[in-house]
This record gives sequence, structure tokens and C-alpha cells, in this order.
Amino acid sequence: MGSSCRTGRGGEAGRRSGRLAALALLVLAGSAPGQEIIRFNTNFEGGSLGRIERLGEDVFRCHVRGQQDQAGRNRQASWYFFRIDGARGRELTLILTDFVGEYNGRPGACPMGPEIRPAISDDGEHWAPIADTHWDDHAKAATLRVRPGRDAVWIAHQPPYTPTRLARLLEEIDRRDHARVEVIGKSARGRDLHLVTVTDPALDDRGKAVVWLQARQHAWESGTSFVMEGALRFITSDDPSARALRRRSVFLFTPMVDPDGCASGQVRFNANGYDVNRHWDEVDLKHKAYLAQMPEIWYVKKAIVDRVDSGRPIDLLVNLHNTETGEYLSTMAGDAGSRAIVGRLSDRLTRETTFRPSHGPVFGAARDSSANVLHAENGVLVVLMEQRIARDPKTGREPAIEGRLRFGSQLIAIMADAVRP
Ligand SMILES: [Zn+2]
Repeated sequence: MGSSCRTGRGGEAGRRSGRLAALALLVLAGSAPGQEIIRFNTNFEGGSLGRIERLGEDVFRCHVRGQQDQAGRNRQASWYFFRIDGARGRELTLILTDFVGEYNGRPGACPMGPEIRPAISDDGEHWAPIADTHWDDHAKAATLRVRPGRDAVWIAHQPPYTPTRLARLLEEIDRRDHARVEVIGKSARGRDLHLVTVTDPALDDRGKAVVWLQARQHAWESGTSFVMEGALRFITSDDPSARALRRRSVFLFTPMVDPDGCASGQVRFNANGYDVNRHWDEVDLKHKAYLAQMPEIWYVKKAIVDRVDSGRPIDLLVNLHNTETGEYLSTMAGDAGSRAIVGRLSDRLTRETTFRPSHGPVFGAARDSSANVLHAENGVLVVLMEQRIARDPKTGREPAIEGRLRFGSQLIAIMADAVRP
């Protein structure tokens, strides 16, 4: 992510708000006689909110908690997910604030804006954008007005996707003959890191194309998990085109690279504060110190490198991410073969799916420390795919869960076609 709204809120302010977040009181009571008590709750998987101030009977200022890295820098506040109880029939005004942080060391980044409407749900499962959302660009605050029809209402930056939902999906997938779910390592907090392999076992894998899809290096980017689920459901299904794809391709998936962050409602850093899509050049598989600090990167990088080193190349690895308003593909590769693959991928996605790129694919992108460096280090064609959470500039609608699932099924088929046209 990274847009650039104003006001300097660098290290010190960020650290201060970090401390406030740690002290935040998440249950709040109070009511007029005869009215229900309103309670804010984040005590569930993926839940997050900072300090809450009551400004009036039904008016609350809610500070977004945010997360900082291991050096106390790069605070990003693009995740909140909370439930309000006792609000049935009342008109609540919620002012979401404290969005401004820092991105790639540059203070002032703000992950919220006029094109983004938070999502609301009355069952924690079905989500819709909050129609009455007003963004104040001067105050960098979003005012939401909601009138819940039920006693409980959930609000989030975008529809959440939890490790529990993924675990249920993987359990289902693991029962199929053509799919294998492995645990390739453990996160900093001891959660399983999964690798899913899908192929037709009746046919030798040698000679098949190999594509790899990865998601949730950044915990807040829950939209990518629905794309991942759509891809996994389709490619493991009995659909005749999925069967045909399994005969000529091997599909690999690392579906949730930061399960700790996804479980605990974090933003983009692992439990030790390391950005999970940085440091990929730094993590040396020969040094166990990196395993202790950044096990998520260490184990996934090891799975990729071991495969390539054992003479089983990967033709294309797509790394799924979300941004606020941008949508694009970017790779450090610039050779003719890579350009042809990414060109085909981009053309078909643009023509046949909801992928609406803000600009054409970026080739030969400047070397950074993201997973893209695997191209320079190991010759793997890694493509970063950013997808917006803001409304589609063409349809004016926010991406919905159904659309993301469908996009995933299209994406995985197009990836396989792009490497072997
Ligand atoms: Zn990301």
C-alpha cells in the first residue's frame, strides 16, 4: 500500500499512539435510561481497534490501532475490525481517526481516503460497504453513520478473512487425491505455515508447467485471501477445465504467510515486528538468527529455493497484495521470456476479469527487499499483484467477496495458460 496524505506523524507520534493502543479500553458502557448499553468488542480472531472516546449519547471517536515495525517505524493503520453490541435501532455516529503513519520510512502516509468505505455486517459473514461514509481530508478522519437492525453489528476496513476459515478450507481440500496440504514451518507464535500442492497424480510432474500463488504476507490485506480461496476451490474441483489444467500443470499455494498477524488483527508486520514482504534479500537460509526473527519469510523462501535447487523450476509466482486505490502487476524481471508471460497474464486478466489496472505491468522494477528479489537471486519469475480495496473506477462498486472468489478461479487458470500458451 502507500498513498500519500499529509500531516507529519512520524516516529515519536507513532510510538505514542502505539502506547495508547496498548492501553486502549475496548469495552465501553453508558446509556440513557431505558436504553441498551453499547459495547465495543474486539475479543475475537482478527479483531482490532484502539482507544474509544464517547463524544455524545451515540457518537464515538474510534482510534485505529495501527502497527509499527521492529524499529518503531512505519506505523500503518489500515486494519480495524470490531463489533458493537446493544445498538439495535439506534443511529450511531462513528468517527474513525488516527490513520496517518509512515510508509517505507516516509512519514505522512495515510491508508484511508474518499474512495474507501468501510464494510459492515450483521452476521460477521455477509458484508456491504457503509453507504453513509464521509471522509474529511483535512482531519484525516472518516465519519460513519449506521443504524443497526440487529443487536450486534461488525465493522471492518474490508471484509475479514480469518485463519479459521482457511483451516476449514484446507481440511476440505486435503481430502482430495489430487491435493496435498503440508506444514512447511511455524510462525513466530507457533502457527502452521501451509504449502498446498495440486496436480493430477496419475501423470508425472516432470514436463508440467509450475505456477505458485501466494497471499497474506500482509495481514490487513484480507481481500487477497478470498482470491486465494477462489483459486483453491476451482483448481481442486471436478470442473472439466480444472481437471485438464491439473493434467498439464502443478499448482502450488502458500495461502497465508502471516497467520499470526491475521489471527491477532495486525497490519503488515510479523509478531517480532518485521515486514513480511521486505527483508527477503536479507534472510539468509544458512543463518538461524533469521529463522528466529522472521520464520514466515525463512520457511517460505526455503520451500521456494529448495524446489528450484532440486531442479524443479517454477514458471511463475504471483504474490497477492491489496492497496487502497492502485491496481497493477510489477516484477523485477525484464527479459523477453518473462515479458511474454506477464504480458499474456496482464492482457487476459484485463480483458476477461474485473482486474482494472491503474497502469501497465512494470518490468525491471527497481531492486527492493520484497519477495520479488527471488528473481535476481534464484531466477524465479515473481510478480507482485496489487488489487485495490477502493471502489472500481469503472463500476463505482467496492470489490465484494463473491467477485474476489470468482476472480481467484479465473486468475489461477490464466496463470497456467500464460506460462504455456
Ligand atoms: Zn501488501
